[in-house]
Amino acid sequence: MDNKTFLFVISTLNKKYKVKMTRVRPFEVLIHGILSTRTKDETTFPAQRRLLSLAGNPQKLYSLNAKVIRKLIYPVGFYKTKTKLLKRAAKMLIGDFNGKVPSSKTDLLKIPGVGPKVASLVLVWGFGIPVIPVDTHVNRVSQRLGIVPKGTKPEATQRILESVLSPKRRLITNKTLVKFGKEICRPLSPLCGICPVYHYCEFPDKDYYKNRYRNLNKEDTYKIYR
Ligand code: SF4
Repeated sequence: MDNKTFLFVISTLNKKYKVKMTRVRPFEVLIHGILSTRTKDETTFPAQRRLLSLAGNPQKLYSLNAKVIRKLIYPVGFYKTKTKLLKRAAKMLIGDFNGKVPSSKTDLLKIPGVGPKVASLVLVWGFGIPVIPVDTHVNRVSQRLGIVPKGTKPEATQRILESVLSPKRRLITNKTLVKFGKEICRPLSPLCGICPVYHYCEFPDKDYYKNRYRNLNKEDTYKIYR
């Protein structure tokens, strides 16, 4: 896909989803990022709320008993490992960063439980720095559309997306593509028949998926997977 088409596609999706950039406390984003690994949003957000109600800053988090943390974040995936990571992350924030979440990617990557995706989430949502976190949805959609070649690693996808999009667009692209990836360009059965960017997509199987549901109207197509 050439850059002009790519920009048009992103613009079309931005208009559809009307995502707004909202800033969140960096510490909350960090907690969200650590808890969300291999866990669905429906589980992550309530666990995050429970934990933050008792541990709203690194000092409080560090002082919480591991058993209490485990209980608060259960049933997120790998909750026992994540409990240890949270304690170690809190300790590092207190010891190395004056109790504050750092705003540089290099420093963020030193924190236990923080990889490139979580670091980028903290930068964009917590500090308003225009980067594009690439999770499984963003990477899949980018590959199907033909923005990046099949098999591209998330870090490379991030570099390609950021090299084309303006800072303003970078701020909302993660949320836009995640929504699109959950609602229409789904992992197993994409709803190509109702896709607003179907004509520009380079996914070889798009006609198969379009025809699979050709007799259904838009509302019924959505219902299939709800
Ligand atoms: S046409 Fe299908 S595969 Fe392509 S972006 Fe749309 S939903 Fe995804």
